[in-house]
Amino acid sequence: MSKFVVGLTGGIGSGKTTVANLFAELGITLVDADIVAREVVAKGSAGLNAIVAHFGSQILTPEGELDRGKLRQRIFSHDEERLWLNQLLHPMIRQTMLTQVNQATSPYVIMVVPLLFENGLDSLVSRVLVVDIAPELQISRTVKRDKVDAAQVHTIINSQWSRAAKLASADDIIDNQGEISHLTQEVLALHQRYLQLSGAANAHD
Ligand code: ADP
Repeated sequence: MSKFVVGLTGGIGSGKTTVANLFAELGITLVDADIVAREVVAKGSAGLNAIVAHFGSQILTPEGELDRGKLRQRIFSHDEERLWLNQLLHPMIRQTMLTQVNQATSPYVIMVVPLLFENGLDSLVSRVLVVDIAPELQISRTVKRDKVDAAQVHTIINSQWSRAAKLASADDIIDNQGEISHLTQEVLALHQRYLQLSGAANAHD
């Protein structure tokens, strides 16, 4: 039986985490790409062992954890090293996400993936839900949340798929430009829809 999986995406600061938490409150299992990306390089993992074999143990903190700052330096402006790292980690992340999806017991699963389209992970999902806000709001909310400057957020936005491209590839869209309180209703309506769709999908298995 294959699970009904909703890919939840949107640009930085659009409200993915906020929306995902509302689905979690309804009892839906979340599979989060950012969390999985940390798990595959956790202390003792095959991913971290491969990174140490490639870059040497200087890539570790004194506690034996991955030193992300050092790794960033090592791949910064070294395209072949970045490629090597992506080729190592992307299949591991993909596989771990699929394993977590298969272990989930909720009627459907929300896969939270910031770079769903950019990393080709939309092929793993049954349906795509995009959280949408205007770039100016992405900037102001991210600046407030992360205490970073607007220029940094702007650079990140420009490195991601455009708002129009994401909207054009969405099956469902949540407009998160209003109050947070409005989200609850939108999430509830989508939840009903996904329960129906997953029920229909499961009945055909
Ligand atoms: P993402 O996970 O997509 O980066 P978050 O869910 O962390 O986005 O939301 C970005 C920031 O904006 C957070 O601080 C969050 O609390 C806030 N936020 C989310 N939705 C709204 C909203 N509708 N109105 C005001 N602030 C919001």
